[in-house]
Amino acid sequence: MSGIEGLIKINDPHFVVDLMYAGTMHNMTGSPVYEEIGLGNNAYVHPDLWEALKRLIPYLDKTGYRLKIYDAWRPVEAHKRLFALIPQDGFFIPEPSKSPHCRATAVDVALLDADGNEFAYPTQVDAYDAKYAKEVQAGNLKGFFEYLKKASHLYQDESIAEAIRNRDELRRLMESIGLVPVPRMHEWWHYELPEARTEKYPPLSLR
Ligand SMILES: [Zn+2]
Repeated sequence: MSGIEGLIKINDPHFVVDLMYAGTMHNMTGSPVYEEIGLGNNAYVHPDLWEALKRLIPYLDKTGYRLKIYDAWRPVEAHKRLFALIPQDGFFIPEPSKSPHCRATAVDVALLDADGNEFAYPTQVDAYDAKYAKEVQAGNLKGFFEYLKKASHLYQDESIAEAIRNRDELRRLMESIGLVPVPRMHEWWHYELPEARTEKYPPLSLR
């Protein structure tokens, strides 16, 4: 049975779906893995995660903002392909079972303003950067890991005070709907259900 059957496809004007790994423009691996496995640019989440995300709608209506979804459910076979592209610990978790994305219990997000422009954050989502993407694809992750420090919730830098405020505001918002940041706090864009990594939510494959 396909894992897709128990999931909700995000199809609501308050949310903009533009999955990183469906295309090549904002993709650290450079390979459109979600297209390759047949998922395409479709964001699926567990119904419990959709229940949480829906709680944002009054806020999004009031402000005119939208939530951009960069990643949602990552089928197990997609995760394996992603890890094969960059087989280094610290980038993708080697075991799909340890990724809440494979359990459809996590999303990678950023807020868009009323004109559809993404707010400034300390890095792009996934700490995407064209220069580092090239290095990472060549197997050199050292520079990227240094840069990744800017993606931490704990990173402080007065010269980008607005971006830090936006990061903290996104966290306040996502926590207000019952989601939590990534446990290591190293990715400002990643939010998940409090029980995202438990056996309540098994990893799911597309096929
Ligand atoms: Zn994530």
